Amino acid sequence: MSNSPIDEPLALFGGPKTIESPFKRYNSIGPEEVAAAKQVVESGVLSQYLGCWTPDFYGGPKVQEFERACEAYFGVKHVVTVNSWTSGLIAAIGAIGIEPGDEVIVSPWTMCASATAILHWNAIPVFADIESETFCLDPVAVESAISPYTKAIMAVDIFGHSANTDVLMAIARKHGLKVITDAAQAPGAMVKGEYAGTLSDVGGYSLNFHKHIHTGEGGILVTNDDEIAERLQLIRNHAEAVVGDKGVTNLSNMIGYNFRLGEIECAIGIEQLKKLKELVGTRQHAAERLTSGLHGLAGLRPPVIRPGCTHAYYIYPMVLDEGLLRVSRGRIYEALQAEGVPIGKGYQNLHLLPMYQQKMAYGTKGFPWTSEICKRDVDYRKGICPVAEKLQDHSYLSIGMCVYDFSNEDIDRIVTAFHKVWGRMSSLVDK
Ligand SMILES: *Cc1c(COP(=O)(O)O)cnc(C)c1O
Repeated sequence: MSNSPIDEPLALFGGPKTIESPFKRYNSIGPEEVAAAKQVVESGVLSQYLGCWTPDFYGGPKVQEFERACEAYFGVKHVVTVNSWTSGLIAAIGAIGIEPGDEVIVSPWTMCASATAILHWNAIPVFADIESETFCLDPVAVESAISPYTKAIMAVDIFGHSANTDVLMAIARKHGLKVITDAAQAPGAMVKGEYAGTLSDVGGYSLNFHKHIHTGEGGILVTNDDEIAERLQLIRNHAEAVVGDKGVTNLSNMIGYNFRLGEIECAIGIEQLKKLKELVGTRQHAAERLTSGLHGLAGLRPPVIRPGCTHAYYIYPMVLDEGLLRVSRGRIYEALQAEGVPIGKGYQNLHLLPMYQQKMAYGTKGFPWTSEICKRDVDYRKGICPVAEKLQDHSYLSIGMCVYDFSNEDIDRIVTAFHKVWGRMSSLVDK
């Protein structure tokens, strides 16, 4: 009779691995997308945009169809598609009427584009710390980061859970600021019956390969503001060439780009959107099974969900209490990895990237920070975001739900591996 895997020695010390076979890769693309793409290719019209003021300024039939479908789905007045969510973030910052040197408060615990979108308009990212429970911007830290130069808040619905958007909006309204939501990782997550990403002045989602639904590359901007929507459309498609004929009088930030998403991608997007609810539901099922399996493991905190919210689980985030376990995260990470758990540690502390540490973005002379447009010395030193820094250095562990399509059996094997490691915790004590 063979032992239960839990009774075997840790794989780290030469015992059998709990998880031998690989996991199935997440893949949301099926015959529907193939047929939709084929139809566009056969039509010969792969993009119908024109960068001047004609009906084709808004793109071709699939762009229109996808945007209208997204408006209905997310319950917003305007959707503007773009060729990446990085493009979407840049367009959003431009559209809210930023001036060079204005400050935008942003989370350090996010993908780099949340902050570089700000720099693209010569505005200054100011990092505020995050909540230890949701990893999203902490409204208290945001309020204390507001300066006379603050113009906006970039909230990030990180890992699939909404930021505390109601509270951030109230702070913003009190101080006359705009709020942008980077919900790249949270399409389909809910806040009191509404979609995460739709609750601020402008928000949206990424359609890159790793996200819940994708078109290879792409992004979806959502807003209920008519003026912001028009400015997004202009920035997306060569604004400076269009404003004259369109009769646009507000020329601020009407430097356009080519941020246009093509017909093939939009045709695929239409099919992907139809699957979003089910794809998110499948992840939630896997995550809930994982959470109940990990319940009771000392010093390990599974994801926290704010009342009224749902989590879309781009990533399944956990927090480890090194002090209580008296074992370092690095050691636990190694042990879990050796058992075959697809475990991650650390995420991002953007303020610690070389660009912010050396304050060098444009050219070699430290623009914009050394320029007169930057009105004060913005602090990016280690220590300004203690919650995010501690997570990065000591306590954060994750499972990338975006990478694999976990079956119930997969989740159960992961749970077994955690229990095995926790059962042998004392053998992991750092030498
Ligand atoms: C993926 C992602 C982006 C960038 O999206 P792209 O479509 O890859 O440009 C921005 N912010 C966050 C939080 C993301 O996860």
